Amino acid sequence: MVSYKELGLVNTREMFAKAIDGGYAIPAFNFNNMEQLQAIIMAAAETKSPVILQVSKGARAYANQTLLRYMAQGAVEYAKELGWKKPQICLHLDHGDSFETCKSCVDYGFSSVMIDGSSLPYDENVALTKKVVEYAHQFDVTVEAELGVLAGVEDEVSAEESHYTKPEEVIDFVSKTGCDSLAISIGTSHGAYKFKPEQCTVDPATGRLVPPPLAFNVLEEVEKKLPGFPIVLHGSSSVPQEEVDTNNAHGGKLQAAVGIPEEQLRKAAKSAVCKINIDSDSRLAMTAAIRRVFDEKPAEFDPRKYLGPARDNMKKLYIHKIVNVLGSDGKAE
Ligand SMILES: [Zn+2]
Repeated sequence: MVSYKELGLVNTREMFAKAIDGGYAIPAFNFNNMEQLQAIIMAAAETKSPVILQVSKGARAYANQTLLRYMAQGAVEYAKELGWKKPQICLHLDHGDSFETCKSCVDYGFSSVMIDGSSLPYDENVALTKKVVEYAHQFDVTVEAELGVLAGVEDEVSAEESHYTKPEEVIDFVSKTGCDSLAISIGTSHGAYKFKPEQCTVDPATGRLVPPPLAFNVLEEVEKKLPGFPIVLHGSSSVPQEEVDTNNAHGGKLQAAVGIPEEQLRKAAKSAVCKINIDSDSRLAMTAAIRRVFDEKPAEFDPRKYLGPARDNMKKLYIHKIVNVLGSDGKAE
């Protein structure tokens, strides 16, 4: 048993309460390697933003859960070295798929877990979430649950079509399960191909695809039912077109990649949405920088010479998200 408190990590309770009061959202960035983690911590330390480090099932399989946990512990110390006096860093399990997975993360230093029972029948989702909450709360670990199904693919999470969260279910779900935050489905989706071209309109000025707007009416209904309760948005990358273009200019083939416009996320961040998950954007930024080096300097073979620029590009992206989209800068001394 390793308590996250010994590692210098924090759970999400206070972060979310402050974010709701202050009308901003906490960034939840996925990581599975050192350069991503360095970029996240540099960006958070520089902007003094609370941050959630997310570990998905795929990341645990790729990088090993134990190693990732020690990396998060190292990240707290690294943040202090960078001059961040009281780092507000949460280590969160993204899309926990079973009680056992959640328990294992609670037992080994995670400060927050998600149990994703959204694909189960309602009563089974309630029962599974409640079981995880009862276990996690013994150790002051916070629990995110999900109601409604997102479309798209994120690691091994996939759903053919999205089913918006039913606002009439949220009070019952939250009171029965005791979860600390709730991921809802309002039209965001996992991955870099969030919408089919036929779902989009075309901006006549740029020729770019414009996705359908998020279902803010569903979000507003949920907020009315659960005033002040922390809401989470998954699948909220914006798929920056300049990163897609850089990829494609240097040998990439990303066709019709489209994300959630940043002005919609800014609007969501001011509401009860207090955690916004961003993963694909950092993948795009990392790959764009690497492709550029490979294309422009084909004789280069020192990994630091392409992973370094990748890290710089991700850091720039994270700072942009924190300052210009989520508004979480300056919220953690
Ligand atoms: Zn997700």
